[in-house]
Amino acid sequence: MRLRIAILGSTGSIGVQTLEVVGLYPELFEVVVLTANSNWQLLARQARKCKPKNVLISDPLFFEPLRNSLKDLPVEVLSGSVADVVGQADVVVNALVGYSGLAPTIAALKSGKRVALANKESLVVAGELVMRLSEENRAPIIPIDSEHSAILQCLTGEKSKPRRLILTASGGAVRDVPLGSLKNVSVGDVLDHPNWKMGPKITVDSATMVNKGFEVVEARWLFGVDRIDVVIHPQSVVHSMVEFADGAVKAQLGTPDMRTPIAYALGYPERLGLPYEPLDLCGDLSFREVDHARYPALGLVRRCLERGGTACCALNAANEVAVEAFLAQRIGFLDIVPLVEGVLERVGNVHGPALEDYVAINGEAKRLAREMIYGDNC
Ligand code: NDP
Ligand code: MG
Repeated sequence: MRLRIAILGSTGSIGVQTLEVVGLYPELFEVVVLTANSNWQLLARQARKCKPKNVLISDPLFFEPLRNSLKDLPVEVLSGSVADVVGQADVVVNALVGYSGLAPTIAALKSGKRVALANKESLVVAGELVMRLSEENRAPIIPIDSEHSAILQCLTGEKSKPRRLILTASGGAVRDVPLGSLKNVSVGDVLDHPNWKMGPKITVDSATMVNKGFEVVEARWLFGVDRIDVVIHPQSVVHSMVEFADGAVKAQLGTPDMRTPIAYALGYPERLGLPYEPLDLCGDLSFREVDHARYPALGLVRRCLERGGTACCALNAANEVAVEAFLAQRIGFLDIVPLVEGVLERVGNVHGPALEDYVAINGEAKRLAREMIYGDNC
């Protein structure tokens, strides 16, 4: 029996690469659901190629053109909530970006599906709830994020809990820009990542290191380890490391190519063969400490993790609005983190939150962030 796969966010960077990996193994995988937000043309092409049972477009504006373009195929075309289509699959690949990924993660876990999780924001916003649902419903979460895939690969076969996780960070696209010039970097500079070709939001998060902070939170929830350090590793070849009580450190290495962690999540616990360039080990691998003056976001995210409750949810919400404003050239690169801090000072923190609390805080933090950027008439 082939594994039925739902790819949520199939038109994005991770979604497209997931389809590529799945396409290498038609005898193992059957794509049953594809979703996008607005890119109906690409979604239609993908549907024509792999003939899923359902395609869903979130933005209702594009429902008619999508349906018309697929009317000769036996595909059910839907619009509305992504969370409603996860029931069709055995494995749900969540490649949505931002808070929009949370509800589908929750729905997939509640129906006992295996979740191959790229959408780290699900764990940043509501890690406690998401992990509880995973445990209660015996629905495993296999990370796609390369650092967490690396840690999972280092831990597979180990009986001892690690004493420390070490996440590697590229430092983002403007890593080598002098501190004094950072305020002038353009959207183009920030999106020009040296090692990874990713969606715009995570590429900006990588430059501020909000992304690495999110990955600390993600690792905390996935692996239950409190001591998590970050080192800058400009080559993005060592994807992360695990240290044990005897001082031994295990690392996972590979080319910076998301198709490897995607394949690991789909095949887990087996490995799928991939026909791509193997790693060439000749070359420098270097590591250095994070400069916190350059990357204040890392400390900010850590403080939110310590504070607990809905603090990380508020942080994520404010960051989503700030990144959107930066990409629209409404604020500068160095405005992003202070804006998020400003929202955190003004928004409340709910301890022991239920889903409704996360929803409310997400809405409130986004409203505050918009007010701070655009004034009262937003
Ligand atoms: P992209 O922006 O490239 O793709 C996002 C996908 O989600 C698209 O299919 C998009 O549809 C859809 N989408 C966006 N907003 C909504 C919404 N409000 N409702 C429904 N669907 C929506 O993102 P990435 O692929 O780069 O990232 C996806 C996730 O994976 C993120 O959480 C990111 O942090 C994580 N990740 C990504 C990595 C990478 O290499 N890209 C590496 C590690 C983690 P449409 O195309 O129509 O806009
Ligand atoms: Mg990562």
